Amino acid sequence: RAKAQGGAGHQMFTVEMREHAVRRIHLEQDLRRAAVQDELRVLYQPIMALATGQTVGFEALVRWQHPVHGLLYPADFIDLAEETGLILEVDRWVLREACKQLQRWEKLLPGAPSFNLSVNFSGRHFSAPDVYASLSGVLNETSFAPHALKLEITEGVLLQHSHTIGETLGRIRELGVQLSIDDFGTGYSSLGYLQSYPVDTLKIDRSFIDRMLQSEESGELVRTIITMAKNLKLRVVAEGIEEPAQLEQLRTLNCDYVQGYLISPPLEPAAVPDYLRRDFPLHLSQG
Ligand code: C2E
Ligand code: MG
Ligand code: MG
Ligand code: MG
Repeated sequence: RAKAQGGAGHQMFTVEMREHAVRRIHLEQDLRRAAVQDELRVLYQPIMALATGQTVGFEALVRWQHPVHGLLYPADFIDLAEETGLILEVDRWVLREACKQLQRWEKLLPGAPSFNLSVNFSGRHFSAPDVYASLSGVLNETSFAPHALKLEITEGVLLQHSHTIGETLGRIRELGVQLSIDDFGTGYSSLGYLQSYPVDTLKIDRSFIDRMLQSEESGELVRTIITMAKNLKLRVVAEGIEEPAQLEQLRTLNCDYVQGYLISPPLEPAAVPDYLRRDFPLHLSQG
């Protein structure tokens, strides 16, 4: 492709490629250091039960406070982390950190109910030999209740590793850990796997929620996913709620849980106790 653009284009392409490669190598070295040197952060986005309006849990979302480049979002470094395999370490770090954090909040706010923790887990874990060991290792080390943990994986994971994934997910499920399918509706789903694998929750992708009131197709898709989930006895989370009208429509459709900027953006850990105190005023003022 570069060649077709002629000599000058070819040259520029090469220089760009070189710069890109150099940047990448630096970022990779940086990322190796980041997990060790405390540059990663976790934000916590509340997930609300539609029926009660109360927080039932949080999704842990990683950030990287880079000493030179500033605050980096997953879009800036997750691909790199996956390509280099560093994602295994990043995800494990996030999991450990979030397990400890949730327990701190539960101690701080003894009147509040216990919360679920949703953690994103890259598909890379499922081609690594020790996903079960590393998961149970973190749970043991932090004494976090396995049934309060939800692992968010994407549809692709179920398809890519179809020969071994059933057994792996089964063992994880036996630990008590729940499984969520993230970005549901965007993958090449074969709906059959929802029955063959021990899935607990579907998270409807933000892109459908975005368009659900404007596009009849998206609206219908959201409705269909919720109905199907009910029939299969799965829970449904709608992600990316930004408008009150979306919330109302999801209420009409009997969606179980919602998550999005309308309810709350991802929060710094220091902001969570106040958020929870507002959410559970009675429990906490008595406690
Ligand atoms: P996701 O798991 O689907 O997470 C939801 C993303 O949507 C988050 O972006 C969140 O900040 C954003 N979001 C939430 N509510 C709204 C809303 O109302 N409107 C809009 N426009 N966006 C909203 P974030 O934090 O940038 O993360 C992006 C993706 O990076 C995540 O998508 C997840 O796939 C991945 N990711 C994040 N943290 C981790 C991690 O610790 N490990 C791994 N493997 N992946 C992670
Ligand atoms: Mg997620
Ligand atoms: Mg998602
Ligand atoms: Mg995603």
